[in-house]
Amino acid sequence: MNAVIWALLGTLFAFSVTSLGALNVFWIKREITNTFQGIILGFAGGVMIAASVWSLLLPGIQRAEENGQIGWLVISGGFLAGVLLLLGADGLLKKHYETRLASGKVVNLKQSTMMLVMAITIHNIPEGMAVGLAFSLAMSEPSDPALFSGAAALALGIGIQNYPEGTAVALPLLRDGMKKKNAFLTGSLSAAVEPLFGVLAAIVATFVTPLMPLLLAFAAGTMIYVVVQELLPEAQSCDEGKTATLGFIAGFLLMMILDVSLG
Ligand SMILES: [Zn+2]
Repeated sequence: MNAVIWALLGTLFAFSVTSLGALNVFWIKREITNTFQGIILGFAGGVMIAASVWSLLLPGIQRAEENGQIGWLVISGGFLAGVLLLLGADGLLKKHYETRLASGKVVNLKQSTMMLVMAITIHNIPEGMAVGLAFSLAMSEPSDPALFSGAAALALGIGIQNYPEGTAVALPLLRDGMKKKNAFLTGSLSAAVEPLFGVLAAIVATFVTPLMPLLLAFAAGTMIYVVVQELLPEAQSCDEGKTATLGFIAGFLLMMILDVSLG
């Protein structure tokens, strides 16, 4: 039960940082530049790849071996399952968001805005799962305080990249003609999937503890799929230069440092 509460708190934190970022819509007058979009999407990708390795895969391998399982085998299985699920769900999710964004919103969103909102919303799903699972792992092994600080480091890293994401979703919506309040709400809600999937993942992990290594690897598979399939192509298409790559490097370094120093 504790695991679910902590998963909820951790993901609510990440969610509220997105809302804070979306609040900028009320006072920022400037258009958001493509370079800025490229940087923040690249940055999010870097945080997610580093989080997959340090917060999900490595603890997953360790837990599998403690359980007497073959670490690499369990981890590869979970990882592939995550990738396969998203391969199947990708098209469905896109259709869903397209119809939802287009339905009765009185404004005509540009295709590029739609792609950006979708890329950010979809990547928040595995992020929520990752934070939820990291806290359930920590709660299942209270004797290892490093797991808890690792989960907190992960929530912090995800939270940091969510701030500019909230802004990056809300501002283009405003530019496309959405009312300020609605642009704020849509920006904020792009991260509402985080508490939802974080809590779901924590519930599953609490009831089937032996599956923990598999679930951690599963979340890592979905993270890496989303980064390679959605975030990085979107980041590179926003900006012709190397800023998206540099944003990625910065995100990767930040998450790695957070995990290694705090976790
Ligand atoms: Zn995010």
